[in-house]
Amino acid sequence: GERPSSIAEFIHQSAEKYPDKTAVSNEQGELTYREFERCSKNLAAYLQNELHIRKGDRVASLIGNSLEFPIVCYACAMIGAIMVPINTKLSKGEIDYILNHSGARTILHQEPLQDKITDTPHLESLHDITELIRKVARANLVNLRKTTVEETDPAYILYTSGTTGRPKGAVISHINVIHSVMNFKNILDSDETLSTVIAVPMFHVTGLVGQLLHQFYNGGTVYSMERYQNEAYIELVQKHKINFLFNVPTIFIMMSTSRKFLENDFSFVRKVAYGGAPIYRQTYDTMKQAFPNADLHNAYGSTETTSPTTLMPAVYDESKVRSCGRPVPVADVKIVDENGEELPAGHTGELYIRGPMVVEGYWDNEEANLKNFTDGYWHSGDLGTIDEEGFVYILDRKKDMINRGGEKIFSIEVEDVLKAHPEINEAAVVGEPDSVFGERVKAFIVSPSLNETDIEAIRSYCLERLAKFKVPESIVFLDELPRNAAGKILKTALKNKGGSSC
Ligand code: ATP
Repeated sequence: GERPSSIAEFIHQSAEKYPDKTAVSNEQGELTYREFERCSKNLAAYLQNELHIRKGDRVASLIGNSLEFPIVCYACAMIGAIMVPINTKLSKGEIDYILNHSGARTILHQEPLQDKITDTPHLESLHDITELIRKVARANLVNLRKTTVEETDPAYILYTSGTTGRPKGAVISHINVIHSVMNFKNILDSDETLSTVIAVPMFHVTGLVGQLLHQFYNGGTVYSMERYQNEAYIELVQKHKINFLFNVPTIFIMMSTSRKFLENDFSFVRKVAYGGAPIYRQTYDTMKQAFPNADLHNAYGSTETTSPTTLMPAVYDESKVRSCGRPVPVADVKIVDENGEELPAGHTGELYIRGPMVVEGYWDNEEANLKNFTDGYWHSGDLGTIDEEGFVYILDRKKDMINRGGEKIFSIEVEDVLKAHPEINEAAVVGEPDSVFGERVKAFIVSPSLNETDIEAIRSYCLERLAKFKVPESIVFLDELPRNAAGKILKTALKNKGGSSC
């Protein structure tokens, strides 16, 4: 069909086509597409008329998976406001940085997350989103002025961690999202008959684009889950005969340990997608068995590529199981060496990614833009190879990042916090292999005075400054850190080091 030119346009098309279908639902209630559109319109009108939010203004959210999140998402799209969905697990200091940097004029939050919001110079107001939606519902469709949104206009700023220790805001445009949802639809062959449970965060790209907007594009139904829990998730899937599952591998690992999972029949599941982290072969095999009628799709992508860069097609032979699929048709993926020179098929190097789903850059961050983009190619920091048939394999990482169950943590963020501790001279943070989370945060510390008895105190110190998922789960004390002749810390040596931990 014809390509829509904005996010609001494609959601509206679904609302016209399927007014009485459930768009989004959770244990608090459900919204048909008609109701979803009305709520969003009311909120959009309030943002426009009462808060004087204009096209291009940033509207931050501190909202987890809920009915409110998609309403904010649609409302912002209607008026061309740029939504800045903040990870609700971040610490006060981390949230403060994002609010300041994005210049958000208002923040919509869930109760009781207002305690994490501090006053920043640009911030004019904060609103409890549940209360606000209730209030605007009574306003009865106040006049909403039409805003012309161009496809290249920014729709979201998603902050990801960075190598400088400060988060970078990837600016996702309407056209980035449109290409992304079209890629999902074309390769997964998805349509309005699909329903899904969103158990991964809606404030990250997979939940936001791969699940929420992809379903709204098709006219499908989403069930929102605040956080993943085995029993509740499986009950929901069974009760509503959910036919499309899309999760990080960690969730599938957790699911496969549940008795309820093993005892139930999931033959109604038609599509299973997984991504955000590498998957263990064993997890793949379990899923293959548990979902006998489903196509299994590995999805490789990133916030900067509005998620899918590669997708596994429905049909592929067994020899490709370790691959994350082929580049989506509009993607231009090349493998380069240390100097950015393209390598021939079969060689291993860094993946450079270009295409209409790749962001133009980071918000107000010229330095990061110069460093991370060349001729429109985003430097992924992932190491991999492409075989003769065009299948991509992710093999390792160049960036010093820890992937904890899909949550990305740059080592430097944690190291900076540790090194700022008055009793810590040196710190190095690595990913420690974990059978459920893939990796966990492990810190090596050099301190003149601290020892094993101080581990809990160090963790509390970190917790005041960092989101809990970034706090080292184990801490090892060393007399010195292993370094090469140039003084660079040898992280590989640390990864291979055992050592007592908490
Ligand atoms: P989300 O944050 O919603 O989980 P995402 O993982 O696509 O989405 P990012 O959080 O920006 O996006 O993380 C991107 C990184 O995650 C990639 O650069 C890569 O290191 C890793 N990754 C993503 N998908 C895969 C995959 N299928 N296989 C291996 N690694 C992956």
